[in-house]
Parts: sequence; C-alpha cells; structure tokens
Amino acid sequence: MNRKDVAKRFPVKVELHVHLDGAVRTQTILDIGQKRGIKLPASTVDGLNKEIVISYGASLDTLLASFHIFAPVFAGDRDAVYTMAYEFCEDCARQGIVYAEVRYSPHLLANTFDKPAYARESGSFSPRDVVCTVNEALEKGSRDFNITVKSILACIRSSSEWSKEVASLCKEFRNSGVVGIDIAMSEFLSDQHPDECPHRQAFLTAKNDGIHRTTHAGEVGEPANVYEALDDYYAERIGHGYRSILDAKLYERIKREGIHFETCPISSLKTAGASSRTDHPILRFATDGANFSINTDDPTVLGNDLTDDYLMALEFGLTEKQIQTSIFNAAWSSFASDKEKQEIIKKLVEVYGEN
Ligand SMILES: [Zn+2]
Repeated sequence: MNRKDVAKRFPVKVELHVHLDGAVRTQTILDIGQKRGIKLPASTVDGLNKEIVISYGASLDTLLASFHIFAPVFAGDRDAVYTMAYEFCEDCARQGIVYAEVRYSPHLLANTFDKPAYARESGSFSPRDVVCTVNEALEKGSRDFNITVKSILACIRSSSEWSKEVASLCKEFRNSGVVGIDIAMSEFLSDQHPDECPHRQAFLTAKNDGIHRTTHAGEVGEPANVYEALDDYYAERIGHGYRSILDAKLYERIKREGIHFETCPISSLKTAGASSRTDHPILRFATDGANFSINTDDPTVLGNDLTDDYLMALEFGLTEKQIQTSIFNAAWSSFASDKEKQEIIKKLVEVYGEN
C-alpha cells in the first residue's frame, strides 16, 4: 500500500499524542519569524526543513534541540500562539482527524520569567495567558472545521517548580477544553521522596480533582519509569511505553488494567525509542491485543503526518484491521466525556463499521 491508498483506507482518524509546539507549519514559522524579526537559519520551507526535521536514527536529545531553533518564534507572543493552535485544527481536519488531544507546556510558551525557556526576552505573557489563548483558538478552530480538539497541559521533568501551577491550570480550565495532565522531556526517575516531589504532588492533585493523567515513559527510559508512571503519577495512558515489554510482569499488568499506549511509529525510529522495523514493540502490542493508538508526536521536527505513521505501522507488520482497532482504541481511551466518546465512535462506525 502506498501513502495514497492508506489515506483512502483510513479517512477518519483520532489522535491522542501530539505536541502543539511540535505541530507547527514550517511556512508559518517563516512568516511569523519574519513578522517578529526573529532570524531563522533558512528562508524557504525546504531550507528550514533541512535544519529542523531530524533523520532516522537520531536521538530524543536531537529532537528536543531542534525545538530551540524555531520555538522562539512562537514563545511569548499571543498572536503567534493563537495562530499555531488555530492552524493545528485546520491541519487535523485536512487529515480526517475528527478528535484530537493536543499537549503543550504553558510555561515553555510563556515569557514571564527572568530567563524564559524559549522566548527571547521576558514579558507579560504568562502561562495562564498561554492556556487562555490556546483554549480560545482550539474552540474557534474546532467550530470552524467541524472537529473536536481538546488539550493536555504538560509538566516538564527538569522544571519541577512549574508543576503545581500546571495542576491548578488543569483544574481552572477543565470546562474550557483542558482534559488532562502530562509530563514530558528527557526521562529520568525522581530522586526526591515521593511525598516531596512536586511532579508527583501535581499528579496527585490532578487525580483528586478528576483530571485525566498521561505521562511520557518507557520511550527511551527503563521499565522502572513506567512503574513510576503507574504507581506515582496514576497514569491512565503511557506516552510511548515501548520498553514496558522488557518487563513481563509490568507488561502483563498494563494489559490486565487496560492502560493505553500512545505509540508514535516514526518518532520511535527517529529518536531511537525503538530501532527495528521488523521486530517493533508496536507490532507486539497489536499482536497481544494490548490497548494502543498510533500518533505523530511532533510533525514539525519528524516531517510526518498521521497517514505516514499508519503506513509505517503497516511496514512494521500490523494488519489494516489492527490499525482500524487502534483508531477505535484511541476513541475509547481518549479523555473526552462519555457523550463525546459516543459521538466519535459513531463517526468511526459510519466509516469502518462495528470494530
Ligand atoms: Zn511526546
């Protein structure tokens, strides 16, 4: 099957694991960069893609480094953040995505710090302002393009001082499109006592507030990270999770409890979360009937869309039926309300029949 066949075979899709600041159009990066006077290493789409799209067999650190090239274009600027979120909805609709959950760190896009993470200078665009802006853009985009896009707010592992605010923003905006909390960036285990770790505190608060939880774990890190995600972060879904299969007890538990793996085929190969196309953990998940979905992760730096990832999953050896099941899995394991889930499932059944 080629790309065109795959797009035709799977016209309706659901996406659960994609980063807002990793899903920006290259042309938009150039346009806003020019408008804001931010210098970029190239002035054409092809030229800039050469600088920011990473190749197969790179690393998670290479991927994260790529963000530093273009994230300053958006960080700290309300209009830029709005455009990024609004166009995300349009791009989802173009791909046939009827429901998406897009994640981001409000703190990385804000500039109210002495030394902002991405923004070039300090200013008055706070993490809360970022969330309000994204909510507004996703709501308008969902309406204009007749799809549903919700958001997940991410903690950043290396910046535990932000996590408490992330949990409180989740609670404040739970009725304005924010459906969950995540933790992202390089994997390492917390060396703080569980009761004192701000990340764990934030996830406990989120759980008590009825906020859904997902965590990046077991992508390039060890099974111990996945245990931590389940036991200390109360994760209902695991971002990636490939390394869970290295621990039979853990893998059995995940299957038994129906924990959902948000897999990202192309991302896994480009960041060395997994290296083999013939013996890929996603094939194992599919064969074993584990609960998993297929996602893009960071299209801007991976150069993919969801059709490319379905195509890659077929290359791993998944059947068309298994990919179809993964789309239904995504709908059932989404953080949408029960009523919204029924609506998504109805759209899937119209196209694919009962799964
Ligand atoms: Zn991710």
